[in-house]
Amino acid sequence: MNAMDALLAIKGIGKVTAGKLLAAGIATPTDVVSTFPVRYERHFITAFQDAAIGIDSTLIAIVQQPATIAYIRKRLTKLTVEVLIEGHTVRVVIFNREFLRGALVPGIEIVCSGHFENDRRHFTANDLVLRKNYREGIIPVYNVDGIPDRTFAKFVAGARPLAPAAADETLPARLLTSRTLVGNAALLDIVHQPASIPDVETASRRIKYEELLRFGLSIHALKRANDRIAAEPKRYDLEKVRAFIQTLPFELTADQKQATNDIFADLKRPRRMLRLLQGDVGSGKTICAAIAIFAVWTAGEQTAFMAPTEILAHQHYLNLQTLFKPFGIGVAFLSGAIKGIARTEIMQGLADGRIAVVCGTHALIQEPVNYRRLGFAVIDEQHRFGVGQRKALREKGWKPDVLLMSATPIPRTLAIAVFGDMDVSSIHTLPGGRRPIVTKIGDFTDFPAIAAAVATEIAAGRQAYFIAPLVATDADSAALSVTEAADLVSRHLPSGFSVAVLHGKMKAADKDRIVAAFRQGETDILVATTVVEVGVDVPNATVMVILNADRFGLSQLHQLRGRVGRGGSQSYCHLITDVSVLADDRLTILEQTNDGFAISEEDLKRRGPGEVFGAEQTGIPRFKMANIVTDRDLLVMAFADAKTLFGDPDPVANALVGQALSTLESYHLD
Ligand code: ADP
Ligand code: MG
Repeated sequence: MNAMDALLAIKGIGKVTAGKLLAAGIATPTDVVSTFPVRYERHFITAFQDAAIGIDSTLIAIVQQPATIAYIRKRLTKLTVEVLIEGHTVRVVIFNREFLRGALVPGIEIVCSGHFENDRRHFTANDLVLRKNYREGIIPVYNVDGIPDRTFAKFVAGARPLAPAAADETLPARLLTSRTLVGNAALLDIVHQPASIPDVETASRRIKYEELLRFGLSIHALKRANDRIAAEPKRYDLEKVRAFIQTLPFELTADQKQATNDIFADLKRPRRMLRLLQGDVGSGKTICAAIAIFAVWTAGEQTAFMAPTEILAHQHYLNLQTLFKPFGIGVAFLSGAIKGIARTEIMQGLADGRIAVVCGTHALIQEPVNYRRLGFAVIDEQHRFGVGQRKALREKGWKPDVLLMSATPIPRTLAIAVFGDMDVSSIHTLPGGRRPIVTKIGDFTDFPAIAAAVATEIAAGRQAYFIAPLVATDADSAALSVTEAADLVSRHLPSGFSVAVLHGKMKAADKDRIVAAFRQGETDILVATTVVEVGVDVPNATVMVILNADRFGLSQLHQLRGRVGRGGSQSYCHLITDVSVLADDRLTILEQTNDGFAISEEDLKRRGPGEVFGAEQTGIPRFKMANIVTDRDLLVMAFADAKTLFGDPDPVANALVGQALSTLESYHLD
């Protein structure tokens, strides 16, 4: 029987459709039945009196007047239409739907989804359809490429009698009972056409739990594997380490002390360290790493210190060199640009041990570098390094202890899922003496006032960043490029200031030159893309203006603004958005707090981990239905349960563990 025949047996499926199903990984009637909706749309009409201000609702309206269109700026139009909703006159506004104008003839019935503004006479819609095209009820969404959801639902009905095995239970009976989950057979009765919201909830809970349980099993399996990697305990000299700490010009914060203790406990253990040290930019992670590197040096072992960019690696190099100079510790910087004799010398120094610490990009892992005795790897990921690099470390068969530093802090329970294969230390408080950055949200009409404030700072001898989302000008995008931003800056700021432009597509040498000039105070204003997010450390810069701020994630904005507030002076961050998105309250948390943990939590809630951390980097699978933020309770439950399944004699449990081990690779964890 060829691959298609099984599918062709289902009523309504022909060769073309079967091909599409196969392409989506659906090969048998059982697969069809076991392809669950990824979500459900709940389409219900709200009565006028029940539609509260600011809360999403869907209302039926009758068009009263022809719609009008306003062109706000490039790629941004506003359609306004006056309608009658249950006798109330309401002005409905929707952005970028000018094409609807023709259809909105007076007298026609439409369905608007969105929310009322202050007085319930204005409604901002995010969707607007003709009443005759509107479907009410609970609608499963399958997202199978090329197959409409309604059609897929029919295939499911046709496949069910051909797929008795789809009802086989996949979860151990004891978990179904203890977690009050619906069994698989009963699930199949409701999952594809739930009759009610409770049905949706019952089905979703079981599906999400199972997804999370399977992921939890893989994470536990990986952690068990890591825990078995033996390593020699480091025989460091505590007295010398204490003496080194004495040379620091400040007292460590409580969180830094805790993190340092965690790291030292790992160094002593006869297992490999795999620890994540997380905390905001400037929270003092590097100094904790430096103390550990020092200890490793007293134990006669070497450290490789890796950063995502050469600029950042070079900064770490300068920093460590200064810290370690009094002790005669050999520190080197290795980059692709270092060639010939200089390179040979570094390679020799690493091979004979004269160089104790080498800083560089992740090329340090990938290139064949011979170390005399490599004992420690510090990876400053600034959230750019990730699973891929962890994987490279494992594949190299590296035994050294590994300390990863991340500046996108994640809340504790989430860390289990995001970096579940590692131990975690967190620094929550910034070192003393830092004044929190004052952040303000505005729109483009505020630009002249903001420009004046920036000019005042610069006149006082400070420097400023302007950040734009795009490298190249794009006529089809409402977002600004660095060139457009530089133009805006030159039109609104005094001409005496020197302005430089920086973006990722420039040659490395040009970038270095521009960053160096800014660092030395030769340039007043740096107009840049997010390239400055990592690696540019200029304490004299006290203002950052982020244009089209709504284009960025919250964590990214927080990270960006961490480029100011690095000196003793009060620093400011201005977030500028379009008027149309100002209503979106997403950014307000940045005005309210400088706590990176709170911000990333909010970001994760809104965008999910794949968006915040990068899907490939975190290794978090794209769950079909589960969401590790909003389903955190289920996650904690499922992860706890997963642990109990190893060694469980129940054949169902056994099968689950076996499947988890065989799918480890699909999570990109290993
Ligand atoms: P991170 O690596 O988390 O971005 P750093 O280690 O680079 O942060 O520290 C940022 C700045 O704060 C550095 O200039 C560092 O010397 C300083 N610093 C670190 N810890 C303290 C502390 N406990 N007290 C005062 N300053 C500190
Ligand atoms: Mg750092």
